[in-house]
Amino acid sequence: MRDRADRTGWAKALLYLRIALHVAGRYGVRPRAFGWNPLRYAVFLGRALRLLLAFRHDKPMRTRQGWKLNLYVPAYPSAAFFHTIEAKLLFRPPGPTTVVYSMTKACQYKCPHCYQRNDKGADAEEAQLLATARRLQDIGVALFDIEGGEPFMRYDRLLALVRALDERSEIWVNTTGQGVTPERLEELRRGGAAGLMVSVHSPDSSLHDAFCGVPGAFETACACVRMARKAGLAVTLNSVLSEEELQRGRLSELMALADELGCHFVQLIHPKPSGAWLGRDDQMQRGGAIIRQVEEAHRHYNSGASTCITALAAQVFEERPDMLGCTAGAIDRFYVNANGELQPCEFLNISFGNLARESFEVVYGRMRTAFPNARTDWLCCTQASEIHRLFVESGSKHTPLPWELTRELVAGWDRGEPTPLYRKLRIYEGDDAGGPLGPVQS
Ligand code: SF4
Repeated sequence: MRDRADRTGWAKALLYLRIALHVAGRYGVRPRAFGWNPLRYAVFLGRALRLLLAFRHDKPMRTRQGWKLNLYVPAYPSAAFFHTIEAKLLFRPPGPTTVVYSMTKACQYKCPHCYQRNDKGADAEEAQLLATARRLQDIGVALFDIEGGEPFMRYDRLLALVRALDERSEIWVNTTGQGVTPERLEELRRGGAAGLMVSVHSPDSSLHDAFCGVPGAFETACACVRMARKAGLAVTLNSVLSEEELQRGRLSELMALADELGCHFVQLIHPKPSGAWLGRDDQMQRGGAIIRQVEEAHRHYNSGASTCITALAAQVFEERPDMLGCTAGAIDRFYVNANGELQPCEFLNISFGNLARESFEVVYGRMRTAFPNARTDWLCCTQASEIHRLFVESGSKHTPLPWELTRELVAGWDRGEPTPLYRKLRIYEGDDAGGPLGPVQS
């Protein structure tokens, strides 16, 4: 079976139909899950379809695990795919889909945009790291984006973490490529890893090297991609392209490079005023024109008009108000940093507590209280100046802001308008969740 193919047009519509029929059949034989109520089952199907159709602007990509409708939706028909559907539509409250899970702060690169540049503290104890990861699977996390620092700098720990997770989650590892070998990739794939996200911040080798502060970084990244493809792993290129490069049309060069290397996705990440860039105002790509340009590119590269097989996952498209909005705070995603701080998003330098000092239930519960339902404001942009102010005024030497300061921030914040998609799904508090046709509490 080919592990890299795309679907557009009618082929994509047929894939959606196949998934819809499979979901209907799989849950149709479980009437107990719907309280023996056919109406509940029909509502569940309607919600599942609405949720999946949110990704209709994306291009399904085939990996060894199956068809990925979106970079952050586990491949169909994997166990992780169905874990996503159940956590979102049958758990009460709904579970998050993705965690960005930092397992070490060790890194030799000096990227200027690092969102954890000011984070301090030793890496969490390995026992805590593994126990938390398993706990996250239980609350619904179906996609682990394991990151560092550079995870391959603590390879044994990375392998132990991958092996600790079961098939309910799809596992991706973020890397610069440093420390990657064919043997390690083979071991990770056998352990359950689905793919690598490899950082390439410019298609121009000298610009990427300069950005990372490491000569040869570009070659290291490309060699890593080739090794990963040979090992049968899926690959995403992660890129924070500068505004200047976007204006010069460099995204097409990046897509061509990704296609040539056999990548499944390019994830275009919008620059954020967080971490090393906390307090920064310029070059954050806030202008409407640049955002429209990226949205247009997202549509193009995910359509039949593109000659690239590689799909584009542009963050500014996926976080549009009429798409998913801001999914921080475990609406869909959240972040655990290397020493166990629980954050609503990797780009928000605030913490709801440290998992080494307080129980998971307490810390996670605080975060969910601050994020009862989905909203549309990009908090990494709208709250950045307030986070920076608290950081400066408190005289903090490091991030994330501790719970005492985070509490002050979240007490009065405005997260924007409700996200229409989630409002229509009616699964969150305030969106009529738990009504007569809500999920059955198991
Ligand atoms: S804060 Fe919200 S909008 Fe910003 S990156 Fe995180 S999830 Fe996306």
